[in-house]
Amino acid sequence: MVELASIGESKTVRNYVNGDWRDASGDEELTSVNPATGEELATVPFSSAADIDEIVRTGNEAFEDWSARPVEERIQPLFRLKTLLEEHQEELAELLVEDHGKTLAEARGELRRGIENVEVACGIPSMMQSGSLLNAAPEIDESAVRKPLGVFTAITPFNFPGMIPLWFLPYAVATGNSFILKPSEQNPLVAQRLFELIGEAGFPDGVLQLVNGGPDTVNALLDHDGVEGASFVGSTPIAKLVYERAAKNGKRVQAQGGAKNHIIVTETADLEFAAEKTVSSATACGGERCLANDIVLVEESVYDEFSDLVVEEAAAQVVGYGLDEETDIGALISADHEQTVRNFIQTGIEEGAELLLDGRDVTVDGYEDGNFLGATVFGDVTSDMVISREEIFGPVLGLASVANVDEAIDRMNESQYGNAASLFTGSGADARKFRHEGEIGNLGVNVGTSAPMAFFHFGGWKDSFFGDLHAQGEDMIHFYTDKAVYIERWPDA
Ligand code: NAD
Repeated sequence: MVELASIGESKTVRNYVNGDWRDASGDEELTSVNPATGEELATVPFSSAADIDEIVRTGNEAFEDWSARPVEERIQPLFRLKTLLEEHQEELAELLVEDHGKTLAEARGELRRGIENVEVACGIPSMMQSGSLLNAAPEIDESAVRKPLGVFTAITPFNFPGMIPLWFLPYAVATGNSFILKPSEQNPLVAQRLFELIGEAGFPDGVLQLVNGGPDTVNALLDHDGVEGASFVGSTPIAKLVYERAAKNGKRVQAQGGAKNHIIVTETADLEFAAEKTVSSATACGGERCLANDIVLVEESVYDEFSDLVVEEAAAQVVGYGLDEETDIGALISADHEQTVRNFIQTGIEEGAELLLDGRDVTVDGYEDGNFLGATVFGDVTSDMVISREEIFGPVLGLASVANVDEAIDRMNESQYGNAASLFTGSGADARKFRHEGEIGNLGVNVGTSAPMAFFHFGGWKDSFFGDLHAQGEDMIHFYTDKAVYIERWPDA
């Protein structure tokens, strides 16, 4: 276990305020547990409204100086942060496995995606530019500029603690704002270490701050007059609540929610390749991914062959402790969440889906207290079933036979969610139809999991997203700045 200087021997998570580590002063607390071993990792005290008031005031004071600094100066600590994250990537990955439960390879990949966002934000001197026009009117030149706004916050979920904070943080400060992160209370240790490294990177005090807590802490941030805007990533019901509350308080807000994602497999697809990618999409990170594609719509002519391939591939997935290199599926975040996923499996059985592979009896020697579940595959999943409609967030995959691509796209578009989907095909016409008709934010063709690189925006449609500007890339510049136009006349005389 990585020793975190910020939490010391008492193993109590702390807030990072004005360049210093502070205790939170709320009444509630939670214990963070290693999901594979059951070992208690840290106590997570929640922050009070008074803590939030102090941290927001500090952020606004820091903004005064930070927003006025030359852009070239603002990106230097980001270059240092990139280097620090790379130097400490292995240590961060191990910490992530211990606090989250996913595998080491997944943790490394997640951190790489996070670092990518720091790299993109280092390009802010170009990205933040707007247009200008000489002689826009007689003797008049006009130019548009982007200005930072103040203090922004991001409230993030448990499932990508090393990546999702970095969808926001680098862009917020590169554009000249100050920023407060509120990570998931279930696994706050990676954020703790991230802020230790931020402390080394040389940002001025108060520009980047960390606050731990639960719903009341979030509400205090959303209600505070000194916060300009909020980003949220988490489940759909909470995303809606956060979106409405922040908007009612006059703030900028973007809220990414849950998902139910589909894969379509046509008879022209490379079935072996598609089966491998399908299983990995549904079961990687224990299925705890907003991009996990877990309902697979297969053209009927290849349904039997494809379901055999999927069951074979899923049965070969090794369940275990994420730090063991041979593990494919790590532990689920909590015993409660494991039970929720088990309940979904029971519901699927009662609804009449065919249980082709049952992962419920899996045991991992030496880790009897871990929250483990093996890959589970259902066949004949009809569109009215709960397991076909609701987000399961576990390694559970459902297969259904469809007559053709049109039927598959219609069924996919019936979903209340629109986060991601993938099509496996050898037909360009099918791919074009899927891309044009899919009511989905991330559409992959012959790609198992459609995760955009940091220089593209990240976000879904329908109940997977509330707002207009998404996370990552150029959308972040628009979210974190407002525009002004300078109209100038300097007549010759
Ligand atoms: P969650 O909604 O339970 O929690 C997310 C954050 O909201 C946490 O920081 C938590 O403290 C806070 N929160 C919880 N209840 C709250 C309340 N009542 N009021 C205010 N804040 C509250 O989500 P989770 O279980 O941590 O994460 C899993 C969910 O996140 C899944 O639904 C997944 O699909 C979604 N997710 C979506 C994306 C995306 O890009 N669309 C990415 C990752 C995860």
